[in-house]
Amino acid sequence: MTDLKHYADLITARIAELDTRMHEVDHELGAPMTADMNDQAIDLEDDEVLEGLGIAAQKEIALLNLAMERIEDGSYGICKKCEEPISEARLTAVLYAPLCKNCARQS
Ligand SMILES: [Zn+2]
Repeated sequence: MTDLKHYADLITARIAELDTRMHEVDHELGAPMTADMNDQAIDLEDDEVLEGLGIAAQKEIALLNLAMERIEDGSYGICKKCEEPISEARLTAVLYAPLCKNCARQS
């Protein structure tokens, strides 16, 4: 039996962590640009990397929110495809995993 409370805590902590990171990214993106053209070019490249991180964090938060919904309706930790329980090792590694290892490999 999957310990839903345990995973709910982990997911909540992970969402908070990502949320903090996204705010840090926002802060960095909002930083004023330097007047020097060379520095500005470097800043722009940095911004693209930061935006990428922000998008990745946003996507993960969306997946984690879906996982929270599955915890609430009791389907968390059950593979969506074959309906077998997902191993704890996999859930710990990928908190929002909707599929078991075998099905994820096939898709
Ligand atoms: Zn499966």
